[in-house]
Amino acid sequence: MGSKNHEIVPTPLIEKIARLKGGASGVHKSISNLAKAGLIGRVKEAKYDGYRLTYGGLDYLALHTHASRKHVYSVGSRVGVGKESDIMIVADDKGTQKILKIHRLGRISFRTVKTNRDYLKNRQSASWMYLSRLAAIKEYAFMQALREEGFPVPEPIAQSRHTIVMNLIDALPMRQISSVPDPAALYAELIALILRLAKHGLIHGDFNEFNILIREDKDEQDPSIITPTPIVIDFPQMVSMDHQNAEMYFDRDVECIKRFFERRFHFVSTTPGPFFKDAKKTVGRDGVRRLDAAVEASGFTKKMAKDLEAALKEQQAQSRDNADESDESDEAEEDSEEEDDDEEHHVIGIQGSDTEEALEKLAINDGT
Ligand code: ADP
Ligand code: MG
Repeated sequence: MGSKNHEIVPTPLIEKIARLKGGASGVHKSISNLAKAGLIGRVKEAKYDGYRLTYGGLDYLALHTHASRKHVYSVGSRVGVGKESDIMIVADDKGTQKILKIHRLGRISFRTVKTNRDYLKNRQSASWMYLSRLAAIKEYAFMQALREEGFPVPEPIAQSRHTIVMNLIDALPMRQISSVPDPAALYAELIALILRLAKHGLIHGDFNEFNILIREDKDEQDPSIITPTPIVIDFPQMVSMDHQNAEMYFDRDVECIKRFFERRFHFVSTTPGPFFKDAKKTVGRDGVRRLDAAVEASGFTKKMAKDLEAALKEQQAQSRDNADESDESDEAEEDSEEEDDDEEHHVIGIQGSDTEEALEKLAINDGT
């Protein structure tokens, strides 16, 4: 409660809110136990005596909510670590497995601080909790809206603080797929998805091989026929077709798919485009619901969108900085046909995949 208005919650306020029996000494004992468990931390250079929630503490509170609402009973292994999130397998009390996505904005590596120095000075770490929660709220709102419109996205189950519970998709990121029976068909499907999103007023903004999961759907009549079906994930950076940089985001999403299909499947489409100006004309056409407007109406305000966008940009700039400094530059990777040797690749249409196998593969995913 204290964290709502204070990054560092003054100790007297904690005493007041806690209303613990045993007076001040009881409160201090509780505080010290929480601090020992790493759920809260004392801030040394603070102007006043107080404590702040740690990420562990925030995780604990969110899990407590999910547990009391019966969405989560147990926590399993971590299947992905991104710069901005942790992805865990969890299960409810019936043993149904789900995905818990924990947003971690502001968890930045301080290996390079050059682009972030000003940002950090202005915002300090004060906003990590707020920003991570914004990312979760936005992602959840978009997943709900997209799901309602029948888009292939995971089912959003619950959101609490900086976390989301969604259903577990038994699929691998496209990044780990080495071949598909019909690249042209999959390509067409992905481009159609970009255009369908645009019609609803949206651009994914990070539409790439990490954020497209490929599920192997077996034909009902003939199970030996497998159709790779894309499921789209990861929505904190979604932007409206009316965004001032919409064209750049749109083109980048299209380009990501083109580049990947050329490099991985040696497929180049003979159809040029799609082009932003054409997609723009379709926004809201045929009476489709504008989801950018719908999400804003759901309470994700312009101010929240702006705060989140600034933070995500900062984070991306930072990760680019880090990439530039690392030994293996992006360019070197692009030139190499044998990219990501350490990753196992999966051939669709030859091997089947049961859940266990899929989970095993998920565990080696780098989760970017
Ligand atoms: P980030 O923002 O860190 O990129 P993502 O939402 O893209 O987080 O998830 C990272 C990885 O976690 C994905 O590439 C995928 O392997 C796995 N993942 C995420 N959501 C699901 C899901 N619902 N089902 C199965 N795997 C998932
Ligand atoms: Mg991702």
